[in-house]
Amino acid sequence: MNASRALIQVDLDPLWAVRQCYGLTGAPPGASAPADPVWDRAVPAFLELFDAFGLKASFFVVGRDTTHPRCRGRLTEIMTAGHEVANHTQSHRIDLLSMADPSLSAEIDEAQERLTQVCGRAPLGFRAPGYAMNPRLFEAVAQRQFLYDASVLPTAWGWALRTVARLIALKSQNRHGQYGHGPVGQAPLKPYRPDPLNFLRPITADSEEKPLWEIPVTVTPGWRLPFHAGIAMALGRTYFRRSLHSVAAQLETINFVFHGVDLLDLRDDAPARGALAGRLFGQSLPKKKAEAAFMLEAIQAHYAFERADHWARRNRGPAPNPLRQPSPGRGITEK
Ligand SMILES: [Zn+2]
Repeated sequence: MNASRALIQVDLDPLWAVRQCYGLTGAPPGASAPADPVWDRAVPAFLELFDAFGLKASFFVVGRDTTHPRCRGRLTEIMTAGHEVANHTQSHRIDLLSMADPSLSAEIDEAQERLTQVCGRAPLGFRAPGYAMNPRLFEAVAQRQFLYDASVLPTAWGWALRTVARLIALKSQNRHGQYGHGPVGQAPLKPYRPDPLNFLRPITADSEEKPLWEIPVTVTPGWRLPFHAGIAMALGRTYFRRSLHSVAAQLETINFVFHGVDLLDLRDDAPARGALAGRLFGQSLPKKKAEAAFMLEAIQAHYAFERADHWARRNRGPAPNPLRQPSPGRGITEK
């Protein structure tokens, strides 16, 4: 069987969070579900798409969405279909890294509590909003019972992505750390077990630390260009094909990320202002569905799909035993 694995993840950012980030017009920020189109229309579209490929994905959910019955029903559908529900903080604050410790912890814990209550099991994965990660947040995540974090976007182009977001939003916001910053651009491209003292480096020896994995959002080797679905939809199939070619040549495990709006026709719900926003958000649903299926098909030619928590558990290795020599199955699996 093909040893290469593609972990497929969906950030279920509700439309209010997308508006907050990109300044799209429509209902005011904070006007979340019951009629949020991400929960109403995008989730069923994702379930249908993934079912067609027989793949099990990970859905990152914002805790405060669970107050709405519609969202709770959808979460049940997601779980019944065999997908994973993961923690995407309580309220998707793009200024998360600037928050004081207690508020930052509450953002993780409240979502964890809500999702555990609704899903009947505790989420095992975490992703910060906007891929924003720093040592303080990482420590908070590592102290908790997660199997993996998937917040690191190891691109050197974070500044460009922040600029695009600013241009679309037509306003400046506190985007500190969004899309990664500085040293995050140098983090490993493959999943790694982070050094507790520096989350951007893999541990160098067998360790009895908690078996937390960092599963970075995949970028291309070399240029470290973004490789997630939204970018690929905006830049077209040639960009995607070239990126996949270089990714598949070097990375045995990839983390390919969709966002809720990737399977949503946003033209009615959140009209985009300007040509750039139009290119990113103005595509029809049939076109988006076709592009998403094209991407998964192309990925499937190189990789077998696996749920991120299953992957993390499978690669956990045997329990640490100080009387034994370090097992080769544990530690870094940079292959
Ligand atoms: Zn998000």
